[in-house]
Amino acid sequence: MTIADQEQAGPRTTPRAAATHDEPAAPRVPYGFFHPRVVATRRLSPTLVRVVLGCDELSAVVSGGRDQRFKLFLPQPGQDAPVLPEVLDLDWYPRWRELDPAVRGIMRTYTIRAVRQDPPEIDVDFALHGDLGPASRWARRAAPGDTVSILAPVVHDNGGVEFQLPQDARWALLAADETALPAVAGILGSLPVGLPVRVWIEVAHPDDRVDLPTRADAEITWLVRPCSPVAESVAAAELPGPAGTGYAWIAGEASHVRALRRHLVGERGLDRRRVSFTGYWRRGTTEDDLLEAAVAAAAAD
Ligand SMILES: Cc1cc2nc3c(=O)[nH]c(=O)nc-3n(C[C@H](O)[C@H](O)[C@H](O)COP(=O)(O)OP(=O)(O)OC[C@H]3O[C@@H](n4cnc5c(N)ncnc54)[C@H](O)[C@@H]3O)c2cc1C
Repeated sequence: MTIADQEQAGPRTTPRAAATHDEPAAPRVPYGFFHPRVVATRRLSPTLVRVVLGCDELSAVVSGGRDQRFKLFLPQPGQDAPVLPEVLDLDWYPRWRELDPAVRGIMRTYTIRAVRQDPPEIDVDFALHGDLGPASRWARRAAPGDTVSILAPVVHDNGGVEFQLPQDARWALLAADETALPAVAGILGSLPVGLPVRVWIEVAHPDDRVDLPTRADAEITWLVRPCSPVAESVAAAELPGPAGTGYAWIAGEASHVRALRRHLVGERGLDRRRVSFTGYWRRGTTEDDLLEAAVAAAAAD
């Protein structure tokens, strides 16, 4: 699934319980805009920084857990706050795209690592990659009191969770780089006791190998750059069970994700419906360009 597919998926399928007898049920928007401030930051490793966001309104945020995604909006240079669509409905994404790209808020996708209620806060773990991108630049300098805008889920079933373990899955495979490490942590924390799971994670620095608590029976392979691609390491490994009984989830740099998916489906015989995959970023391409390319590809279909 492409990044742009994600914007179109899910939300439309979440109906609202009928309000009155005759009115057609209006679809409920499973997201809300919030404007929290930075409460704290903590360096988790050489590459990862945790930014804790908080404000009273965040008590409405509900995470579906696992790899739950949300949108971060940053102001353009010279603006105090990001320009957002005036109306929040199921068409928020086309509405945002209609705004002048030079004026509209810069939108980036991140993972909700944790949600707390008392006080209302969410944790977001940023993989820093220097000042090349606005989100990495913002996270690197984030300090208590800074404000930011987010579009975050307000219902559990919000279409923003890709990891969907089939009921009959007897084992799982996870593959990620540091941008998907928060998602891997959330997924591992959600897995059933004793489920065999093989995990490959590529990181920039040996100290990025953070603790990943789980009740599953996890075997984790860390690949520290410079290293061979994850797909090669997976190709050399034995999977925990027959292809037909497994489930794979892959996220990270788009070309690496594609290569591993091809290997799992083509050479290992996994059913493509049992492989969830998401390009979290693409080398040499901003998220804006990735989204535009995905929209153009969808229009050409
Ligand atoms: C569903 C989803 C969940 C995500 N969750 C997280 C998360 O929890 N934490 C997290 O850190 N990231 C996460 N990402 C990835 C993040 O959205 C991208 O890395 C994003 O491009 C960062 O925005 P930016 O403004 O810093 O860089 P952009 O402006 O988008 O890109 C600028 C340049 O930086 C390059 N670049 C982008 N990311 C990286 C990187 N990690 N390493 C090296 N070069 C890079 C691009 O190729 C481009 O050349 C997620 C992505 C998706 C789709």
